[in-house]
This record gives sequence, C-alpha cells and structure tokens, in this order.
Amino acid sequence: MSIDSPREECGVFAVAAPTRDVARLTYFALHSMQHRGQESAGMAVVDSGVTVVRELGLVATVFDEPSLSSLTGDFAIGHVRYSTTGANKWDNAQPVTSPRLDGLVALGHNGNLTNSDELRADLMDDRRALEAGTDSELIAAALAAAPGDLAQAAAQTMQQIVGAYSVVALDEHSLIAFRDPSGVRPLSLGRLGDDGWCVASETCAFEQIGATYEREVEPGEIVVLKADGVASLRAMPSTGPKLCIFEQIYFARPDSVLDGGTVWQRRRRMGEQLAVESPAEADLVVGLPDSGTPAAIGFAGAAGIGYSEAVVRNRYVGRSFIQPDQTLRRQGVRLKFSPLEDVIRGKRLVVVDDSIVRGTTMGQVVEMLMEAGATEVHLRISSPPVLWPCFYGIDMADREQLIAANHDVDEIASMTGATSLAYLSLDGLQSAIGTPASGYCRACLTGEYPIALPESADKLRFEADACGRVEA
Ligand code: SF4
Repeated sequence: MSIDSPREECGVFAVAAPTRDVARLTYFALHSMQHRGQESAGMAVVDSGVTVVRELGLVATVFDEPSLSSLTGDFAIGHVRYSTTGANKWDNAQPVTSPRLDGLVALGHNGNLTNSDELRADLMDDRRALEAGTDSELIAAALAAAPGDLAQAAAQTMQQIVGAYSVVALDEHSLIAFRDPSGVRPLSLGRLGDDGWCVASETCAFEQIGATYEREVEPGEIVVLKADGVASLRAMPSTGPKLCIFEQIYFARPDSVLDGGTVWQRRRRMGEQLAVESPAEADLVVGLPDSGTPAAIGFAGAAGIGYSEAVVRNRYVGRSFIQPDQTLRRQGVRLKFSPLEDVIRGKRLVVVDDSIVRGTTMGQVVEMLMEAGATEVHLRISSPPVLWPCFYGIDMADREQLIAANHDVDEIASMTGATSLAYLSLDGLQSAIGTPASGYCRACLTGEYPIALPESADKLRFEADACGRVEA
C-alpha cells in the first residue's frame, strides 16, 4: 500500500443464506476487505436471537474455528474498521447494537454522518442515544426508535440522517442494507447461486465466497435480503451518484469492480495519462507497492520506459497509516520498504505513487532510493493534489496538515528531495476513469462538497465519526 495515502476506511458485508455457513462466508468476505479496516472486526449472526462477536484486531485474530462454529444462523452481517488515534478501543468496534422492540438491532456502517449533533438532539429522549459515542451508534439508535419492520425503520431513519453511509443491519426478523442518496461509499449486491444473496463494500468479497456480482445498491435504496430474493425500496430520491473518487485512486482493491469497471484498469489508465501530461527523462519506472503499481505499469507503457520492481514491501507490516502517531509512521517506512540496490544503482527513476496527503513520509522514500544509488528520482502522483479535508468518512486531516494546501508543487518537490514532482490533473483523472465527473465526490480535490456540511467544520472534527472518534 501507499506510504502517504488518506486514512480511515471501513468495510461492510451482509449475507442471507440459510443453507450455508453464514459466519464462515462473512469471515472470508471480511478477510478479503481487510485493506478497508485493520483495527477491529466483528459480525452479528441471527439464529433464534442476535449474537454479536466483535474485537480489536485483524479478522484472522478476532475469529477462530471455535468462535465461527458457534455462530450459526440464517443471516449475518460483518464489519472491518479503521480509525485514528484515540479510537482504538473495543467500544467502537462494530457491529454496534441497540435494543429494538423485543430484541436487538445490530448494524455495521461505512461513512460519516454530517448531522450527528442534530441527530443526537432529536434522540434526546432515547437514553441509549445519549450514550452513543459514534455516529454509527446514533444510526442504530434511530433504527431502534423507529416503528415498523426493519426496512420501514430504515426508511424513516434515512429521513433523519445526513452524510455518507453504506449500512448493513439485522434484527431477529430481517436483514437489510441501505445507502445514502449520494452513494458516496460503495455498496454492491451479489448472488450466491440459489442459496442466497449478499452485499459488500467491494466486489472482491464476492470472488472470495463464490458469489456473483449483480449490481450496485443504488444511492437512496434499501434492499431487504432473503434466501430466495431481494426486495428493493426507494427510500430517498438519489441526488445523483457521488462516489468517492479516492475509491478509484486508492481505497478499493484493484480487482474490485466500481462504476462499471475494474479498479486496476482505471489505475493503469491514470498512469498512462500521467505519462502524457508529465513525462520524464528516465531509465526505469517503479511503483511503490502495492497501490502505486498499476499506475506505474501504465506510465511505463505510455512513456516507453522499462518497468521494474525496485522496492520490496514487507507484506507483514500493515499500511503505514495504521501507526498511531507520526513518529511511528516515520519508522514504518523503513520497516515496510526495502530497495533493490542492484536494480536501482546508477538509474534515473520515475517513482509512481497514488497520492501525497501529509507528505511526511515521501521524503524518506526518496532518501532511501538515493542511498540505494538512484541518480534522479522523478515523483509522479496518479491523483491531483489533496487540498481540502474530507467529512465523509476518510481521515484527510486538518487543512493545515495537507501538504498541497500549504505548499506549491516546487516546494513539495524540494521538501521531499525529489528531482521533479508532478501530479495528475483533475481532467486527466476523470478521463482515466472514463465516466462523468458528475458521478463522483471530488471535494478533497476541488473544495466542492456534494453533501451539506455543518456550520462549524471544527466542531465536526471533534465529533464521533463512522469508524470512531476523529482526533483533531
Ligand atoms: S472528500 Fe475526497 S476522500 Fe472524502 S468522500 Fe469526497 S472524494 Fe472521497
């Protein structure tokens, strides 16, 4: 993964398949989406009642054979979570639960509400809501307080909540998933042959469990999953899809399908476009593994320069951004990457990465490559500069921490020690994706936010977010 990409993600999954081992299906689906959240994992399974298991840690450490074997039922939801410093505690692991009618509702959420204060105030009479520490718990509390079956409750809840949300939820009677009217966070529907149906943040989960991709859950849609079919309810009119463009740039796994195409192909085309816009005289193109690799291959092909691995990644070190403070992140670069000196020595390199957010680690990579014998390092970034913070579930930091918001390209090149630096243009990015800009949230690149923000952005930054509490 990249060294300085945006932080904060979550992944959700849900399955209705009474003849199958739904806990094991959920386990493997979550495992395939581990890249979306490495801090905690959990699942809820419905048999005669709702059983929830959630814990800090990776999917493979949270669940073992005995715990999976004990989780029997007809349907299940699962969640993987990443959050920033201060939120690494069991309380914020998901699924979250709230008492509802004669039982329990359990919920997994990817995204970030922007009206948590108002929602909390609306739920003042509900003692559970007052105790809520995250906006995900507020959604669960709103669902619990709403009348009717779970789908009806979700329809009412969607009228109350504002922001980015892809949600899976269940109670003793039903399993649902719903997506905000802008569809900022991805959510896809899959089919398990004749056995049942599932939804996942990313289609790579379907590959993992032998399901086939059917379609995306539409913005503003609620789907009710049953073994024998899917019922669809249009709860809110879509405001027009606004998928997070960073899913294409960085977050999603390259083999996932988003907006009608594979992410890997989009990233390769970003590299091709970057080579056209910002060529460099060089001997070798290298990508920072893994997220820079497709764009590096695209750049090399378009530029007619050889491509090679030149940096080996230690795959047993997580994304550098899971480190809780900057000091550890700096150490993490050397823990994570090792240069191949005999490949690098004496070469002019083009080094491709997907993004620079804070810029705290790129300089160390350049230094590492120079120490390994590179004579020039031309940094090429397959996305435009990140200029604005994100309020929709991604930890894009304060504006003061965004290097491109405070320094021009020449200054950043100088700060990193790179021979040259260039970013992909906004138009170039969109042309590489190949679908209209109107279908995407690009707010962190343009400052044009598709969903209303609270009056005080600072206030929001101290609120609970979808995946934990954001520490300013
Ligand atoms: S602001 Fe950026 S990171 Fe946040 S949802 Fe929009 S495109 Fe994605």
